[in-house]
Amino acid sequence: AGSSTEQTYVYKVVLLGTTAVGKSSLAFRYVKNDFRESMPTVGCSFFTQLVCLETTTMKLEIWDTAGQEKYQSVCHLYYRGANAALLVYDITQKATFARAKLWLRELEREFLHDEIVIVLVGNKTDLAAQREVPLEEAEEFAKSKSLIFMETSAKSNHRVTEVFMAVACELLKRER
Ligand code: GDP
Repeated sequence: AGSSTEQTYVYKVVLLGTTAVGKSSLAFRYVKNDFRESMPTVGCSFFTQLVCLETTTMKLEIWDTAGQEKYQSVCHLYYRGANAALLVYDITQKATFARAKLWLRELEREFLHDEIVIVLVGNKTDLAAQREVPLEEAEEFAKSKSLIFMETSAKSNHRVTEVFMAVACELLKRER
C-alpha cells in the first residue's frame, strides 16, 4: 500500500519494457500531454502526477528506466517497493511482447500476489498496419495472468490517460 502524507497517498509506478517501445513517451504524454519523435534520455526519468479520485488525492511517482534496460537487466532497486508496474511492449515488435512476459516472471519472483498492480500495455496502435502481436493473443495472456490490459498510442494519444487511471483506480480499491 502507498504511504500517506497529509491525506495524499503516494505510489511508485514503474515502467518496464524493451528499449524504444515507448515508455518515456507514455509518461511524457500522460504528464505533459505532448509527444516528441525523439525523447531526451537524461532528465526525464521521473515524473509525478496528482490524481484525484472520489475524495482521495493520489500522487503517482512515475519512474522510467532512462535506458538502463539496454545494459542487460534493470537494477533491482528500480522496481523495489513499486506499487504498480506497466509492462510495455510495442505491438509491431513480437520480441518486445516476449520480453514483457519475462518481466512479469521477474515481478512474480519479487512481489507477492496482490502486492503490486500490473498493467500490460501494447503501445503504438497508430502503427496497426505493421502489427505483429495480435490483440487477442495479448488479451488472452493478460486474462490468464489476471493483468489489466490496454493497447495505447503515445503518439496519437490513444488510451494513455486510461492506463494511468486504471492504475489509480486499482490502487485505491486495494487501499480499502
Ligand atoms: P523507451 O525507450 O521505451 O522509453 O521509448 P521512447 O519513449 O524513447 O520511444 C522510442 C521511439 O518510439 C521514439 O522515436 C518515439 O517517438 C516512438 N514512439 C513512442 N511511442 C509511440 C507511439 O505510440 N507510436 C509511434 N508511432 N511511435 C512511438
